[in-house]
Amino acid sequence: MIIAANWKMNLTREQAFHHLSISSRQEVHVRSGHQTVFFVPACYLAMAEEVLAPTHKIGWGGQDCHAQQAGAYTGDISAEMLLGFGCGWVLLGHSERRQYHFESDELIAQKTAYSLKMGLKVVLCVGETLADRETGQNNQIVAHQLDTVLGYIKDQQIAPDNLVIAYEPIWAIGTGNVASLNQIDDMHSHIREVLNRSAGKDTQNEILYGGSVNETNGAEIFGLASVDGALVGGASLDAEKFASLCLISQQSNG
Ligand code: PEP
Repeated sequence: MIIAANWKMNLTREQAFHHLSISSRQEVHVRSGHQTVFFVPACYLAMAEEVLAPTHKIGWGGQDCHAQQAGAYTGDISAEMLLGFGCGWVLLGHSERRQYHFESDELIAQKTAYSLKMGLKVVLCVGETLADRETGQNNQIVAHQLDTVLGYIKDQQIAPDNLVIAYEPIWAIGTGNVASLNQIDDMHSHIREVLNRSAGKDTQNEILYGGSVNETNGAEIFGLASVDGALVGGASLDAEKFASLCLISQQSNG
């Protein structure tokens, strides 16, 4: 399973160092068959590389990157910059980027294509709003988000092998309103169908769930066969709690 921490814009420099230092010594993160990834604020990437590289196992990455190689894009960072700090991963299309930075499916597709081309593993977030779900449009919205990216990378002749999907219903992020097991299972099956249809074959891309995952609800979510891991916000900010969640994922039979 992949358990990815999305710190968002949280933790001071001291707190970040403390967390990563503890995590780098926790055995749960280096077990075979398990992948922990830390999506840290950009200013902590050097710290993540310094602390996590010696584990030869824990991954780290940026919470976003630009679709272009370089240029006059104040405040942005490129895939090359992430690679320069040893990142193996990048998080793209998070609903907070879509909402607060007005990122479109098309822009996210360009970012995904460029990141994959540069050799990064991409965790691509998709998910519907509460209004979408209440009006029964959830499957259609998520398929459109995904198809836009898959179609674009196919046109660019970029292999989707390093693409991981995170299904994050927007109404479940940071709200404590975790999606029901049926809702998660149904959407993960739908995402698998979209992936298979696009590839024309059975796909292996991992599908993570994200949205208020914690130590209390983790076991039953990880128990679903359609769930290959989680993208975790709030419950990833404390090293001990996050390690417990990783342990729970390893004890699940999903
Ligand atoms: C997230 O930020 O991707 C997320 C899932 O947050 P939380 O776990 O806090 O809902």
